[in-house]
Amino acid sequence: MHSAFAHSSSESLSPAAPRRRGSGTARRSFWRVLPRVATLAAAVHGLFLAMFAWLGVWPMVGVNVVSIALYLAAARVLRQRRNTLATRLIVAEVLLHAVLAVALVGWDSGFHYYLICLIPPTLIGLAGRGRDKLLQVAALTLLYLALDAWSGRNAPLYAVAEQALEPMRWMNIAACFAILSFLSASYLRTVNEAEHSLRELAATDPLTGLHNRRRLLEMARQEHARHGRSQRPVCVLLCDVDHFKSVNDTHGHDAGDRVLRHMAQLMAETVRAHDAVGRWGGEEFLALLPDTDLPAAAQVAQRMRLAVADAVFEGSTPLRLSITIGVASLRRGESVERFIARADAGLYRGKVAGRNRVEVERADD
Ligand code: GH3
Ligand code: MG
Ligand code: MG
Repeated sequence: MHSAFAHSSSESLSPAAPRRRGSGTARRSFWRVLPRVATLAAAVHGLFLAMFAWLGVWPMVGVNVVSIALYLAAARVLRQRRNTLATRLIVAEVLLHAVLAVALVGWDSGFHYYLICLIPPTLIGLAGRGRDKLLQVAALTLLYLALDAWSGRNAPLYAVAEQALEPMRWMNIAACFAILSFLSASYLRTVNEAEHSLRELAATDPLTGLHNRRRLLEMARQEHARHGRSQRPVCVLLCDVDHFKSVNDTHGHDAGDRVLRHMAQLMAETVRAHDAVGRWGGEEFLALLPDTDLPAAAQVAQRMRLAVADAVFEGSTPLRLSITIGVASLRRGESVERFIARADAGLYRGKVAGRNRVEVERADD
């Protein structure tokens, strides 16, 4: 059952299942993987702990015990969706670990690089005002410079052999590259998904979930261009609900809306996978049928008309309704507007002739 249509850039106008892709999808998936990332960070700090125990730098063992506790706590609160608290715990851990590690084992250990990893979440995170974010980044910069200056003038409290410092630094640099890549990829996904959902919103009729008029016109232009290249037939059906005003008048506007949704569903079910159907306006629907000649399009229109005539709609009492459909086939050299206007002319003739009928274009249209 289809109630919405997505048009791929390929040759088909395939229906797609209704999708509710909010801009929050990527954000949700980011927050979903973060507990695992926090648990991984706790495990990595377990390795640091073992390494510092082996080197005999006991205060760093203590620092890493605190780091592991903070990451495990962050993972736990992330699972409870307390994201702000989790972020604070992680930021506290990074600051504490970077400052103490530089002071205890020196700048060459490379633990200060993790401070740089705080910049993207500080600036891009949604919470907080722009000015506060800039102040936080400025504070981070000052802290980084202060650590640099301090370690240039003071020897670390623990002298660790270069053979141990070098792999430690490499590991930290690699970890920072991985963290920044993960954050960049997550932000890119968020932006892409937000853009995608905005595009969908701009192309979707909110009441029925079908394509809206803007999208239908865009698709009609694409089919028009394709027709110009390949001369393959394209047809359009313009459908209008008969006496719809009386549905609103008798059963109320809400019932009218429900009827339109039901109608949209019926139309979507009647067309083939590579056709497109949308709401043209009010109680009018338009179906675009690529690779379809006039007799085949008239058959689709009849199927649609009968599906509606057979259906029982929900009002204050069960309702029977009908639709009238105008059918036109794109002619060589004519504009999209003229093409649709000829379907509209057929629809008008159908109304005049008594409604609940399909009117195919005439040679003199
Ligand atoms: P005809 O058979 O000649 O098409 O008659 P009709 O009553 O369907 O046509 P008319 O153009 O007089 O009325 C269309 C009605 O559709 C009037 C308008 O209030 C109603 N309508 C348009 N959009 C909506 C909508 O989104 N929801 C509801 N409930 N009604 C709508
Ligand atoms: Mg109308
Ligand atoms: Mg009508």
